[in-house]
Amino acid sequence: MAESMIVVCPHCHTANRLSAERLADGGTCGKCKSPLFRGEPMELDAASFDIHVQRSDIPLLVDFWAPWCGPCRTMAPAFAASARQLEPEFHLAKVNTEEEQQLAARFNIRSIPTLALFRNGREVARQAGAMDATSLMRWARSQA
Ligand SMILES: [Zn+2]
Repeated sequence: MAESMIVVCPHCHTANRLSAERLADGGTCGKCKSPLFRGEPMELDAASFDIHVQRSDIPLLVDFWAPWCGPCRTMAPAFAASARQLEPEFHLAKVNTEEEQQLAARFNIRSIPTLALFRNGREVARQAGAMDATSLMRWARSQA
């Protein structure tokens, strides 16, 4: 593992530089003092999404969803449970495609839920359709 990493705060979206040791402890944001890993998915809009994708050294697993989508609601608890297990290897985020239509269009999200994995500023994997927590975590780790 690198000696230090950039981790973007899930609360105020400030980029923090953390040593590997501090990362293992979880770490807190230098600006807002929130934990950098909360054990739950963060909600992102277009602006905060870009900061996480472009600045963070932590792979970002994104659930593109919408409130009217039944399978999305079904998958939500599995996605939330996965956050507790996949951190700090990954950050998990939700993008509401109803509110962030431009972001969904930019990534050509055709069906929801769609999971997409971003690393080093770009999308590296995508999977459409609801998954249970076990499959979801296995898929994420197989792409890392
Ligand atoms: Zn913060």
